[in-house]
Amino acid sequence: MQITEIYKSLQGESTHAGLPCVFVRLTGCNLRCSWCDSEYTFHGGRKMTSEDVLAEVRRLSPNGGLVEITGGEPMLQERDLVPLMMELLEDGYRVLLESSGERPLERVPGGIIKIVDVKCPNSGEGGTFLPENLATLTAHDEVKFVLSDRTDYEFAREFTRQHNLAERVTAVLFSPAFRKDATGARDSSHCLLDPQALAEWMLADEVPARLGLQLHKFIWGPAVKGV
Ligand code: SF4
Repeated sequence: MQITEIYKSLQGESTHAGLPCVFVRLTGCNLRCSWCDSEYTFHGGRKMTSEDVLAEVRRLSPNGGLVEITGGEPMLQERDLVPLMMELLEDGYRVLLESSGERPLERVPGGIIKIVDVKCPNSGEGGTFLPENLATLTAHDEVKFVLSDRTDYEFAREFTRQHNLAERVTAVLFSPAFRKDATGARDSSHCLLDPQALAEWMLADEVPARLGLQLHKFIWGPAVKGV
């Protein structure tokens, strides 16, 4: 499979935020979100076998722990990825899979925790989530919405209510997007949507979701890669 990078850091998002995590970032994406912070994954990378990837994960985290498969869009390499995920589970790792849900998720092994990033209108990729994937969500999965304005927020709020997401998954996450040209300051001034405004909307509407901030951007800065 084609891999952009494998590294160990702290998980920056989801209910696992703050935990040590090995990130396996696969190359290639079929979407082009307007605020994408991972464009460096679109091309390049290096070919690695599942055994190579497993060996690197074991080297970085020999005593088990959290692994996140991300990208790009990992499910574009489903044929090689599914066996790798099964091997990671057999090794005792807790494995997260981050996916836009644009590809079918039905063959993702049940032990994998899916973090499904449903695209909102202002990403430029709204409507790409496959509705059939709702049926693949289980109680340990999480659904994330990255928001850049009020329109995105209202889309996420209605999607959450319409599909009863809070009853289906561990967490529904509303996360402000960062400007992709963000540099320097490790604060929320680079968010496209002010977290304070988002907090006030969520409280006013009693949305059954949690506000998530991308922890790694506040620790290392918004432009730093591989952290
Ligand atoms: S799906 Fe992810 S990697 Fe692909 S363009 Fe959107 S934000 Fe970037």
